[in-house]
Amino acid sequence: MTADLDLLDGVERRSFDGNERLATRGEPVYGEPTKDGWRVWDAGRSKLGAMLELRMETGLEGGETVLYLGAASGTTVSHVADFSGPTYAVEFAPRPVRDLVGVAEARDNLFPLLKDARDPASYAHVVESDVDCIVMDVATRGQADVANRNRQFLADDGRLLMAVKARSEDVTADPDDVFDDVLDSLESSYEILETTRLDRFHTDHLGIVARPK
Ligand code: SAM
Repeated sequence: MTADLDLLDGVERRSFDGNERLATRGEPVYGEPTKDGWRVWDAGRSKLGAMLELRMETGLEGGETVLYLGAASGTTVSHVADFSGPTYAVEFAPRPVRDLVGVAEARDNLFPLLKDARDPASYAHVVESDVDCIVMDVATRGQADVANRNRQFLADDGRLLMAVKARSEDVTADPDDVFDDVLDSLESSYEILETTRLDRFHTDHLGIVARPK
């Protein structure tokens, strides 16, 4: 486990047009700048990218087995697959999954699953148990419940890396109150290791690093 971003195998800070940017090696996906086989990982379009930019201690070293919940069309999970081992990408909306399948064509280790993350039994036969990491960005009501339901897949020393969107829980509530409620709910299954507001990149989002209890 490491806190030093530059020691995460497969993720580096590289110079693009004179600016140091987070980057992974792989086929481009969303029109991001590329150079020498590296592609910019835009933290403004990725909560996990923002967590890394903000130096959260994700525990990632590279090569992990990952369960990614809320993959959408693959912006972030494509970067995750660039530096990880088997990467299971769950998304319940058919339209983005069509794009995700295209993203997976260039990545042998990326497995798109058109499934509802609230129903882990529906993909338990596909996803290996004891994954090293769950990355979660579902931006929907009941975010803690989704994390708790998927705890079963996580190795005892694994990590939950979760982005919580306050407005998805309650558009009118104070985000801090929403985050407190989410953290309370998570504590049934997880020990919270770190929380950081992602507002520099994503308004009213909280990044959470947790490990299973
Ligand atoms: N993580 C993506 C990225 O950075 O590229 C963006 C994810 S977007 C904020 C949230 C996604 O979660 C949407 O595509 C939505 O359809 C999906 N989602 C919401 N609830 C879900 C559920 N219960 N099961 C699977 N996917 C879900």
